[in-house]
Amino acid sequence: MLGWVKFLLPARTRPIVVNRRKIRFIVFISLLLMVSFSATSIISYYVANDSLQRHIRSNTLPLTSDNVYSEIQRDILPTTVISSLMAHDTFVHDWVISGEADDKKIVRYLKSIQERYKTTTAFFISENSRNYYHSSGVLKQVNESDPIDAWYFRVAKMTDDFEINVDNDTANPNRTSVFVNHKVVGDQGEFLGAIGVGLSSASVKKMIELYQARYGRQVYLIDKTGNLKLRSKHHQGADNIRDSEGISRIATQILTSPGGSYSYQKNQQEIYLKTRFVPELNWYLLVEQVNETESQIQNTLWINLTFSFFITLIVILIANLTIGKYQQRLEAMATKDKLTGADNRHAFETIFAQALRIADRRKEALSIAVLDIDNFKAINDQYGHLAGDEVISSVAKILRAKLRDSDMICRWGGEEFLVLLPCCELAAAEVLANKVCQGINEYAIIANGRAIKITASFGLSSYQLGDTQADLFNRADQALYRAKQKGKNRIEVG
Ligand code: GH3
Ligand code: MG
Ligand code: MG
Repeated sequence: MLGWVKFLLPARTRPIVVNRRKIRFIVFISLLLMVSFSATSIISYYVANDSLQRHIRSNTLPLTSDNVYSEIQRDILPTTVISSLMAHDTFVHDWVISGEADDKKIVRYLKSIQERYKTTTAFFISENSRNYYHSSGVLKQVNESDPIDAWYFRVAKMTDDFEINVDNDTANPNRTSVFVNHKVVGDQGEFLGAIGVGLSSASVKKMIELYQARYGRQVYLIDKTGNLKLRSKHHQGADNIRDSEGISRIATQILTSPGGSYSYQKNQQEIYLKTRFVPELNWYLLVEQVNETESQIQNTLWINLTFSFFITLIVILIANLTIGKYQQRLEAMATKDKLTGADNRHAFETIFAQALRIADRRKEALSIAVLDIDNFKAINDQYGHLAGDEVISSVAKILRAKLRDSDMICRWGGEEFLVLLPCCELAAAEVLANKVCQGINEYAIIANGRAIKITASFGLSSYQLGDTQADLFNRADQALYRAKQKGKNRIEVG
């Protein structure tokens, strides 16, 4: 629709309704796209996250835990073998049976064991003398009433051949060692004493560091009360898991089950944890991993969402343009006459009513002209219908050329036009009609090689206060009738 039509149309009939519908449609499409894009992105984010979590929980961490566990076994097992060899050594048996004659012999023996196998300690406690023999000499006599020596009397009574115990070293009380305490039993099954070696926990700690470096995960060991027994230098957290951020929440669960998979939050990070009880040490082995890959998945989510946003934006733009174009085309189809491009009667009636209201309110002049091509039937009959069409569209072109931009042209019927002349007195309208009449007279349409000369008759009327649309039109129509009566090709005023 042309600009002036929009201006003249009453507010309620302006394309606002259509626009509102268009906006509603675009908002609906945008929401639909946004919601579906976001839903797909978020669902895939959760699916990826979930499968990653499951992978860490069910594959990565248990595998590391198994590896570390078997490495602990591998490293501690040899010490049990050494202790077993010592317990069955005929030299030890003979020396005890011969009455522990020479301290130096057993001390030298223990020293050679310690040096050969690079253990931190080697010891023998004789049941006979209750002497604590060490690679450095006789340290003391064990005493049943001394809690430090309780381990010895426990070993004497136990049914197993050996035990592994983590304790303070008698030879060096500042050092915690992993002891393998083996029973020494004589030929008749009599208890001769306890023998064995110890690994300093520092070396076990080094092992832990090694595992940690090898597997890139946090590895540490806690006792049954939750105290951290072995950990790497870089380990962060309290000495007891019950006092440590995040993990304290699941401490009881950890300490009451032989093993499990957990997760907890620490420093805004999710941490996966695999625990297992190590019976050889009477400790729990904990392997942890920070859920780092989550940030990668999160990045993917943001990329997806941004991408979706831009796709939505592009779709909205395209939809807007396409709808706008179709809307324009539909509007033109509904309001324009196809042959001449002038407004059709349907559109014109609204414009006419509005023009009348404006003229009335502003007390402005308004004239109309009804134009009818003379003897048009004869042109049709003589030159054919197509030539007739050509005549009609030519008249429309002449009208547009001779009138002002603010004048409105409507194809009223077959070969009739109605022209609305706002701000135009009857006299001025007559001048204009004369110009058009002249233009039509001078114009020749070439059809089938012959020039067709045409004429038209005009009926004019101008707005009088209180006129309805029908009043104004009827006066012009009657004037036109008079023009026809008076011989056509003329202008009559109503
Ligand atoms: P008058 O001078 O009294 O106006 O005579 P007239 O022949 O022009 O008037 P009449 O109303 O008898 O004839 C109008 C004719 O116009 C009749 C109709 O077949 C023809 N007509 C109407 N619309 C069209 C159109 O779109 N194209 C063509 N080619 N002819 C049309
Ligand atoms: Mg007619
Ligand atoms: Mg006619």
